[in-house]
Amino acid sequence: MSAVESKAKNQDTTVLIIEDEAQITRLIELELKYEGYDVLTATDGLEGLKAIKDKSPDLVLLDCMLPSMSGEEVCKQVRADAKDTPIIMITAKDSIDDKVKGLDYGADDYLVKPFATEELLARIRAVLRRKPKSETGTLQYKDLWLDQFNRVARRSNQELELRSKEFSLLRVFMMYPEQYLTREFLFSKVWGYDFIGESNVIEVYIRYLRSKLREKQFGKLIHTKRGEGYMLKAIEGAPLEEDGSDD
Ligand code: CA
Repeated sequence: MSAVESKAKNQDTTVLIIEDEAQITRLIELELKYEGYDVLTATDGLEGLKAIKDKSPDLVLLDCMLPSMSGEEVCKQVRADAKDTPIIMITAKDSIDDKVKGLDYGADDYLVKPFATEELLARIRAVLRRKPKSETGTLQYKDLWLDQFNRVARRSNQELELRSKEFSLLRVFMMYPEQYLTREFLFSKVWGYDFIGESNVIEVYIRYLRSKLREKQFGKLIHTKRGEGYMLKAIEGAPLEEDGSDD
């Protein structure tokens, strides 16, 4: 896609920047407008939350440290309202714990300050690509059922309490059932950018998902094979450890 086509494509896309540092806001705003995005801004958490509700932006850039309400709290409240507006957290804290914590609040991605404009733009494109508006409808596999639009999932008619990333991970498994999916594939599908070598984030989320799928109660669904990855497959009457998976 040429730069001109890309700018034209961005024209119907509104990005809300929630950031209290005017200089940073101004810089991001200029870059985004140059790329053809429509830009809205808010300078504190409460104002930002209100703008998300009132203006339904296509994507939110959300600073962590904000007056009146923290970025994490804004993110939590948006997800509590069952809104799946894509959110990229912008954080000055760069420890991995804080990153994972950020994702746990339901953010789709995070960026650590200071960041390069090119990286910001790439992350925005990736997050927007992941959420095409046409991806609605339901998916079904054995006793699993998933409503992509309302982001509701059930197993054996019991609703699963999944956080944003767990839901996205399950959705990928249900789109590609009964085949091994590599960690790299899952990472790019759920997080939208290339896999970072040593990260164990996939293992962590697979563990969460297994527990939420109530494998002990309803039977094993996610199988692990060293060197191949993970597979969604229901095997009736099979013992839990039939494939030698480690957990
Ligand atoms: Ca700030």
